[in-house]
Amino acid sequence: MCGIFGISGHDSAAQLTQLGLYSLQHRGQESAGIVASQEGSANVVRAMGLLGESFGPEVLKNLPGRTAFGHTRYSTAGSSTIENAQPSLVKFKDGHLGLAHNGNLTNATELRASLEASGSIFSSTMDSEVIVHRLARAHSRTPERQLAEALQGVEGAYSLLVLVNDTLLAARDPHGWRPLVMGKLDGATVFASETCALDIVGATVVRDVEPGEIVAVDAGGMRTIQLERATPLHRCVFEYVYFARPDSKVFSGSVGLARRALGRQLAREHPAKGADFVFAVPDSSNAAALGFAEESGLPMEHALIRNHYVGRTFIQPTQAGRDAKVKVKYNPVREILAGKSVVMVDDSIVRGTTTRGLVALIRGAGAREVHMRVSSPPIISPCWYGIDTPDRAELIAARMSIAEVAKHIGVDSLGYISLDGMLNAVPGGPTGFCDSCFTGKYPTRPPSVESKARLG
Ligand code: AMP
Repeated sequence: MCGIFGISGHDSAAQLTQLGLYSLQHRGQESAGIVASQEGSANVVRAMGLLGESFGPEVLKNLPGRTAFGHTRYSTAGSSTIENAQPSLVKFKDGHLGLAHNGNLTNATELRASLEASGSIFSSTMDSEVIVHRLARAHSRTPERQLAEALQGVEGAYSLLVLVNDTLLAARDPHGWRPLVMGKLDGATVFASETCALDIVGATVVRDVEPGEIVAVDAGGMRTIQLERATPLHRCVFEYVYFARPDSKVFSGSVGLARRALGRQLAREHPAKGADFVFAVPDSSNAAALGFAEESGLPMEHALIRNHYVGRTFIQPTQAGRDAKVKVKYNPVREILAGKSVVMVDDSIVRGTTTRGLVALIRGAGAREVHMRVSSPPIISPCWYGIDTPDRAELIAARMSIAEVAKHIGVDSLGYISLDGMLNAVPGGPTGFCDSCFTGKYPTRPPSVESKARLG
């Protein structure tokens, strides 16, 4: 998964891009990059790791121009190396091209093979590089038409920011998998994965970039092209469940309120009568736990504290690394938990590793009973569209029944929200969402074996 931010028509374009990207680090923290362009020339800075460490004022000075855009990366396609850090920036016959991508393309391997067969040389293993090559070959007259031409036949999920010389383009795939919002700041146009990035720079929200829409901004003003949209849409419901920040709006709905509604629905479906209190696995489940507490009438406690200086447990390459990290990342509050029957709310169970470790911690702190409630349905299939879920074999709910999962993670009871309950609780539901990780039903052809290997 990734975060993207761009701005056109501002004297502090690179500085504002850096600030915007700060709010999108939860979408990617492996690498970051910024491209800025002015009058026919463009510069890029890319670095591994968190933004703060590599993009100081000295670096930003080397990024002049009134148009800039950037990317924070969490590798889902292509490995975690500097060659794969985005945005990409290349020179071509008509000037320069830059690109930042959030999502996963499902037919990149085929597209790449056909480009390579006709002479293209690739410099990364990223799926998005195919779009850059197709753009360089497009014959249409305007940048927006060139992008529309390049995207013909590209399948899968993409929210894109593209630079063609001094024109900044924003585009979303026709299914609308990943969010992308447009805002205004001092007359400049701003694009971001989530509204929290508009907030941090002081921009006002204008509207979503629509599924299938291409927006072009340059000195000539703003132009849009609306390509045919998919019906139904396939907006990623997991953005509401887990991925986006609760202070953001995505797909025009509040993420925090969506999570709270999910928690309320979860409490209606799986009440935990007789429990002493509810607590969240912080931070992504805070709002869902609050909703659960409101609906069930149980008090909410902060029984588990998270250390914010530890990276995500989920993306540790080895199981041993993941196990050890649970303890480093979370600490239970004994004084609150001892002797109590507790409801632990989390947004999802993927491999079950973190959850099992957490339940052991909660019991170790003296809890008498642990009732787990999950604000998404069992995840039984990998995501092909940009969320970093592992292969089916590693997904605990794909291998075990709910009773077996409960036993494995060591809880007294386990309740997942239903699919219908989730889809009805999120803003704009119940239709128009991708639920393939919960159902195994995908709206596109599968990625080829090679792309799947790269997805790993
Ligand atoms: P586990 O028990 O190992 O399946 O981990 C579950 C935890 O991982 C939950 O607290 C989720 O909030 C979190 N989680 C879910 N999806 C992801 C993801 N794509 N990347 C990182 N963490 C995730």
